[in-house]
Amino acid sequence: MEPMQLNRISDILSKLKVIELETILLKETYLGVHVSPLTYEGIINSLKNRIEKGEQSTIIAVNPEKVMTAQRDAEVKELINNSTFQIADGVGILLASKLKGGNITSRVTGVDMMATLLQFAATEGHPVYFYGAKEEVVKKAIANIQNDLPSLKVAGYTNGYDRDEDALIARIQQSGAKLIFVALGSPTQELWIRRNLEKLRDVLVFQGVGGSFDVFSGTVKRAPAFFRKTGTEWLYRLLSDPKRFKRQLNLPRFLMKILFSKDK
Ligand code: UDP
Repeated sequence: MEPMQLNRISDILSKLKVIELETILLKETYLGVHVSPLTYEGIINSLKNRIEKGEQSTIIAVNPEKVMTAQRDAEVKELINNSTFQIADGVGILLASKLKGGNITSRVTGVDMMATLLQFAATEGHPVYFYGAKEEVVKKAIANIQNDLPSLKVAGYTNGYDRDEDALIARIQQSGAKLIFVALGSPTQELWIRRNLEKLRDVLVFQGVGGSFDVFSGTVKRAPAFFRKTGTEWLYRLLSDPKRFKRQLNLPRFLMKILFSKDK
C-alpha cells in the first residue's frame, strides 16, 4: 500500500471515529517491537481526533538501535509498544519493512515530527511546553521556532538539568500546555513521560525528541540534504564522528535478525 492510500484510510477511519482501531490495526511488528506506518499527515489526523476526545497520546521514535536495545531490555520494549505512535525514524526500519513486505515506505523522523506538530499547534492555537536540553539551547531553540511561527503559543520551558520534578510538574500543570516536547535522551525521556502522564491530564500530546532542541537551536547541524534525501544520514554521522562506529553496528545486526525472523 502506498503512503497516500494509508493516509486516506487513516483519514476515513478518523472521520468514522474509529481511530483507536486504526492506530492498532495498521501497526507492523519487527522483532516484537511495534512501528506505525502512518506518515506525518496520518498522525496529525489521528491526533486531532484524539485531542477532540481529550485522550492523551505519546509519540516515540523507533530506529534499529532502539529495537536492538528492546531485545535485551523488556522495559524499553514495553515503553515503545505502549506508546500511541511509534514513528519509523531510521532507514533501517524502512529496509525491514521492505524485506518483510510491510507498508512503511517513508521515514517519519523525530525532528520533522516535532516541526509538524509545532506547525499544527500554531494553527490550532494549542500552547506548547519545551522540557530538556541545556538552558541556552532550549532558549535559542524556542527563539528560532518563534521566529518561524510567530503565532505559536509557548506555554513555558525548563532545561533538562533541573532536578526538582514536583516543581516542574506543577509549573507544566499551570502553564496550560496541550503539547509537550521532552528532550532528555532515550530512554530517560520516555520514562519521564510514563511517570508523569497521569499527573498531567491536561497535556494531550507528549513527544520524546532526543537531541531535537539542539537541532532547532542550531547547536547541532542536520546532515546535508544529499544524505537526508538518500537516507544515508547514518553515513554522514559516521564520517563526522567515527566513534559512532560501534553504535552503528546495530544496523547490520538488526537487518540480519530481521532476515531470519518470522516477522511478516
Ligand atoms: N539532556 C538533558 N538532561 C540530561 C541529559 C541529557 O536535558 O540529564 C539532553 C541533552 O542536553 C540533549 C538531549 O538530552 O539535548 C539528548 O540528546 P541525544 O541526541 O543524546 O538523544 P538520543 O535521541 O540519542 O537519545
